[in-house]
Amino acid sequence: MTESLLSDQFLDNYQNNMLGVFGKPALVLDHGKGSEVFDVDGNVYIDLLGGIAVNCLGYCHEKINNVIIEQCQKMIHHSNFFTNKQTVELAKKLIDISGVDEGSKVFFTNSGAESNELALKIVKKHMNQIGGKRIIALTNSFHGRTLGALSLTYKSQYKEPFSPLIPNIEFIEANNLDKLELAFSELATQKYGQIAGMFIETIQGEAGVKPLSAQYIARCRELTKRNNALLVIDEVQTGMGRTGSWFSYQNQAVVASADISPDIITMAKSLGDGFPIGAVITNGETVSNILSKGEHGSTFGGNPLAAKIANEVISIIEDEKLLQRSGELAIYISKKILDWKNEFVKEIRGAGALLAVELSGEFADRVAKRCLSLESSKRVIINAVSSNSLRFAPAFNIDADILDEALDILNNVILEEGKSV
Ligand code: PLP
Repeated sequence: MTESLLSDQFLDNYQNNMLGVFGKPALVLDHGKGSEVFDVDGNVYIDLLGGIAVNCLGYCHEKINNVIIEQCQKMIHHSNFFTNKQTVELAKKLIDISGVDEGSKVFFTNSGAESNELALKIVKKHMNQIGGKRIIALTNSFHGRTLGALSLTYKSQYKEPFSPLIPNIEFIEANNLDKLELAFSELATQKYGQIAGMFIETIQGEAGVKPLSAQYIARCRELTKRNNALLVIDEVQTGMGRTGSWFSYQNQAVVASADISPDIITMAKSLGDGFPIGAVITNGETVSNILSKGEHGSTFGGNPLAAKIANEVISIIEDEKLLQRSGELAIYISKKILDWKNEFVKEIRGAGALLAVELSGEFADRVAKRCLSLESSKRVIINAVSSNSLRFAPAFNIDADILDEALDILNNVILEEGKSV
């Protein structure tokens, strides 16, 4: 059998056996090391996407491999009738690094959507308690695909087939201060009822890496606090160091010189460096006491293996000074891209290791596809997050030479594809 048939064979099997919701996968991957991955046909790819903002330490970090083996030899799972050292330690660490108030608590989940489901349950219970009528989410938001998280997600294409979803969720235009003031105004409250909660992403990742301004986020915090509404910041994509601090609201608080401390923080993705784990932090005693015993649960959430890995992720980020490195990546990559003087690059946006390059036309998909099939150089994994934007979400520890190589390749592909549009 020739090598190229190997991936074709897997793809046939994929299409015969897997639900078609993702379409046909572009590659059949075999293994990875650092920021490089190899497909089953032996092709090598430099990964600028990191499993969509997940593999923050690259592939197969030695210390992560070691703790996986170590913990597997002890215990992978036990029921929620019990707990273990790893899980308890992780909860404490997350509370420490998020800078939340005394009395804050953590719940472990298995994914970003699940984290947002729990946040929504807390907001809904709070809504019932205060007699609220509205929950605010933003245009272009993405909070996940489960029914609750989907109700908070903006794109109608994702939602329509499953309607009706959860009611009373109102979408207001992201980053528009006037619309924000209007939603919280006395008039709107009298007419439509009190707002019980608001969900935001500080950088709307799936929308094309679109940052909210620090001023806007600070105002969301002020208005929610004033109206006894819970502010939920979805840090699923931006959290765990991706934007240069543990959580992106910490950056924004500095920029706005304001207190931007959310009531609820949701996370997943980089927390496990690829191993499924998510978490929710409830800030302070009052929010932490909204749910009572028996009102939520998860079989796998926070099992000892997932927790051990997440503890190690945090230690590695600290030991290898990766918050700083992640923060510097935005400057480094932006400078390189500006140096290209590529006529087809219109804008660079984002923070840390979460960036988008906006192209002058709608050919991002062509660039991403071409990067996967190059013959004369290494291939590059990058995501067409929208028709005209490419998303970067590399490992925080991506090697500078490998990054340079990938950026050179990308520059050439953008030039070639831009000229042929
Ligand atoms: N929230 C945000 C901001 C996300 O970017 C994502 C996934 O991309 C999710 C939630 C959903 O996470 P998951 O796919 O782990 O359910």
